[in-house]
Amino acid sequence: MSKREFQTEVNQLLHLIVHSLYSHPEIFLRELVSNASDALDKLKYLTLTEEPYKSIAFDPKIELVLDEEKKILTISDNGIGMNEEDLVAHLGTIARSGTKNFLANLSGDAKRDSNLIGQFGVGFYSAFIVSDRVDVVSRKAGEEQAFRWTSDGKTGFEIEPSTRPGQGTSVTVHFNDDGADYAHSWKLKDIIKKYSNHIAFPILLTSNESEWNEEEKKSVTTLKTEQINAASALWKRSKSELKDEDYKELYKTLAGGYDDPMFWFHTKAEGTMEYTTLFFVPSKAPFDLYQADYTPGVKLYVKRVFITDDSKELLPTYLRFLRGVIDSEDLPLNVSREILQQNRTLAAIRTASVKKVLNELKSIAESDVEKYAAFIDQYNKPLKEGLYSDYANREALMDLIRVKTTKSDTWTSFAEVKSRMQEGQKGIYFITGGLGAQLRTSPLLEIYKKKDIEVLILDDEIDEFVFAGIEKYGDIELKAVNKTSAGEDLKTEEDKDKSEDLKPLLEKLKTALGGKVKDVRASMRLADSPSCIVSDEDEPSMKMRQMLRSMGQAAGLPDTKPTLEVNPDHEIVKKLLVAGDDSLVNDAAYLLLDQALLIEGIALEDPAGFVQRLNRVLAKAV
Ligand code: ADP
Repeated sequence: MSKREFQTEVNQLLHLIVHSLYSHPEIFLRELVSNASDALDKLKYLTLTEEPYKSIAFDPKIELVLDEEKKILTISDNGIGMNEEDLVAHLGTIARSGTKNFLANLSGDAKRDSNLIGQFGVGFYSAFIVSDRVDVVSRKAGEEQAFRWTSDGKTGFEIEPSTRPGQGTSVTVHFNDDGADYAHSWKLKDIIKKYSNHIAFPILLTSNESEWNEEEKKSVTTLKTEQINAASALWKRSKSELKDEDYKELYKTLAGGYDDPMFWFHTKAEGTMEYTTLFFVPSKAPFDLYQADYTPGVKLYVKRVFITDDSKELLPTYLRFLRGVIDSEDLPLNVSREILQQNRTLAAIRTASVKKVLNELKSIAESDVEKYAAFIDQYNKPLKEGLYSDYANREALMDLIRVKTTKSDTWTSFAEVKSRMQEGQKGIYFITGGLGAQLRTSPLLEIYKKKDIEVLILDDEIDEFVFAGIEKYGDIELKAVNKTSAGEDLKTEEDKDKSEDLKPLLEKLKTALGGKVKDVRASMRLADSPSCIVSDEDEPSMKMRQMLRSMGQAAGLPDTKPTLEVNPDHEIVKKLLVAGDDSLVNDAAYLLLDQALLIEGIALEDPAGFVQRLNRVLAKAV
């Protein structure tokens, strides 16, 4: 027998499981049953598609055997099984990037972390929540030798050769004091009903049943076996047969959470293509939603045979928060996981599924504002990602996303903003590049406030990128208020005159600022502030530049400069126009530029210079 160490991360995970995650110890059973079901799925697939396996007489099932007295539970499957190498690799290390990610994300706050783990599932190691020893005897399909893995979950594990009549895996859990509650058949039945009722394979429970025997006048104990799950691919049933409770239960089986889904979309397509899809929207966004190696949540089945659950191709990336099933009648069973991407049937199912999901969301948005707001709270951002990645559905997505505006502190739609447009308004205006509160005080908004024009406050960090690429909502142009042209829109004849009057000052300011700005102009958009900066239409804003720089992605950007706009009606500007002191005008030029940068949340290149100028001007004023 050889003694081996767990990988460091396994130790970390085990420690965490045992010390902070006993809030839902019952999940151990769901995790072990789901592993058994995966193992059956894998072998079933092979027996249908690959030569040496086709000859295996395969009657897939999961068997639970409970010894109430000894407090021992064995969960067996006749699935794919594991050999020595597999046991070391799968039950001694953490191979799944999702788990590593999870560990990296832990906050140290037990309560928060256990919520996280609820969404995530801890897999096999959860057995150590309820037991002080776990034995695994496994024999890989197609091999003769079985192996026994055993561990107390603390000091590593041991592996030795063993025997097993057929292929598959038996996991034996020796309940500890905390786990003793689970050594009752009624309890196990409850948990299976709750989490694993719709596992596609029968789950059989064998346990001692005590019954009163009238003749012998005493209670006798007999061994009894019964199937304790429904074992049906529930998504294949018709909607009318299914109750909300069924869907909720299936969600728990499929997605492995404890919470109920927010809502679900169940579709049966018949005709040229035959398939069923069932998509759930989790009530909380999955914790790894914004990680590059998120776990995809949709499983692919072909005629009820599980094919894969790790394909990121089944749905577009921006819908990665969906959980559920795609079950196709048309795909061949041996569709290899690698060629899934190029498969035309799947591509068609994917296109139709996206349309369907977006449509369903639309009808929720129309019929239940509150429910839809809850959805938006969780998933507005991924939908916005869709705006740039899914060109074909951009219009639908524009109507699904929600924004905040200068006139609405709660979510509002583009359609509503459109309906509130002013007579003669030339476009829908938006501001990006900072936190909402900061954007709301930007001088760039002054003219819009004065003219009572609504401006979208787009303060998600992705907004600047997303909306830079969107020209229109329907036939209405979208315009960033920090672009030079947005100011032109609001110009009147009278304004033009003013810019003529201001000319001598504008020239002086431009000379003083040298190469710091592209131009200095009279502004049409300021009411209370003396100055602001804007960028040209086709150039990234100063704020975007700063963001790209902080992400280390500004390398290829051309070195563009902002345009400084000054307010012809502002007292400072009026006085500067007639000022004779050139050194004061020089300092003022920089102060006007720097304050415009500061108020947009842009860091100054030369803060010391700013302070010196400010002090010089103050000294003159006091
Ligand atoms: P997950 O199931 O999420 O991958 P687990 O920690 O539960 O993570 O299991 C790790 C791996 O161990 C599985 O991916 C699988 O390869 C293997 N495994 C676990 N249980 C079984 C089983 N009953 N039969 C075959 N392989 C199993």
